[in-house]
Amino acid sequence: MNAAVEDLEFVSVTKRYGATVAVDAISYRFRPASYTCLLGPSGCGKSSTLRMIAGHESVSDGSILLAGRDISNLPPAKRGTAMMFQNYALFPHLSVLDNVAFSLKMQGTDKVTRQNQAREMLELVDLTDLADRMPDQLSGGQQQRVALARALITRPQVLLLDEPLSALDPFLRVRMRSELRKLQKELGISFIHVTHGQDEALALADDIIVMNNAVIEQAASAREIFNAPKTRFVAKFMGGHNVVALPSGHFAIRSDAVQVTAPDKGHIEGHVTSVEYQGTHVSLSAQITGDQEMTALIPDTTFLSAPHHPGERIGLNWDTSNQHKLTA
Ligand code: ADP
Ligand code: MG
Repeated sequence: MNAAVEDLEFVSVTKRYGATVAVDAISYRFRPASYTCLLGPSGCGKSSTLRMIAGHESVSDGSILLAGRDISNLPPAKRGTAMMFQNYALFPHLSVLDNVAFSLKMQGTDKVTRQNQAREMLELVDLTDLADRMPDQLSGGQQQRVALARALITRPQVLLLDEPLSALDPFLRVRMRSELRKLQKELGISFIHVTHGQDEALALADDIIVMNNAVIEQAASAREIFNAPKTRFVAKFMGGHNVVALPSGHFAIRSDAVQVTAPDKGHIEGHVTSVEYQGTHVSLSAQITGDQEMTALIPDTTFLSAPHHPGERIGLNWDTSNQHKLTA
């Protein structure tokens, strides 16, 4: 019973904007104190979902529960959630410390208390030395950490992040990614993070909710989503899989689980259409029956010890435990 106390739960939540259904009756129970990514292509309803949790957007139908309490109609500040925005707009005329302390000031907390708490938050995000700077004297990554501290100072049960890394350069993105992950574990609260990048979701999330066309395609642990996608959409969106039609149905088979054999020794025969060197691996594509392509991702040393060439007739083999039946 105890573990369920801080659950966030969607009960058939719908968001409509006029005739557009942005979120279509989704139900889901978040694991307490987990890092969950909402993943999907642009326009699938991720931000609408997050904004409904935050209270920045009304719920058209259904309800959102936090710790068993219906928060659907509460004002944002009363929900126990905090949001970090995509463009983490800081107040330009306030110092870093005052930016972080801002929401406590709004709540009427006295100056000494709010500045002490703001300093604590700055320590958490490693910005203690920059407390007196103005926002325009900070790098993008530093501004983002101020925004994080500013959201966390309200001590939310759930931190909501909408594409928080998209404005950063690739190097900083990878670094911030591990900092976010570490912070979530330290704080022991739930982070719900919207992204359209499958690599970002895999790197960060305990659980991934894959959305498509306003509904949840699949929700499971990051490993299960990648390893055992349930639908063609999830397999293709996550990448790294072959989606093939075999006599017994459609299947997803991880590319790195496919081996090249002699033509009569595999599950299926084909001829090599391309060979691409990718550093640690060689990606070999072959045409199989019915105009389908399959890709085998072969460790470079394995490939180099027995190379194959375009036009060659080969067999493709895989352990059937790596063959996952798709339901749609
Ligand atoms: P995502 O964050 O996954 O890109 P959104 O939740 O922003 O998706 O949008 C989902 C759908 O709702 C899209 O079709 C989008 O055009 C529409 N939409 C989002 N916000 C509004 C709005 N304020 N008014 C009307 N339509 C909107
Ligand atoms: Mg969005």
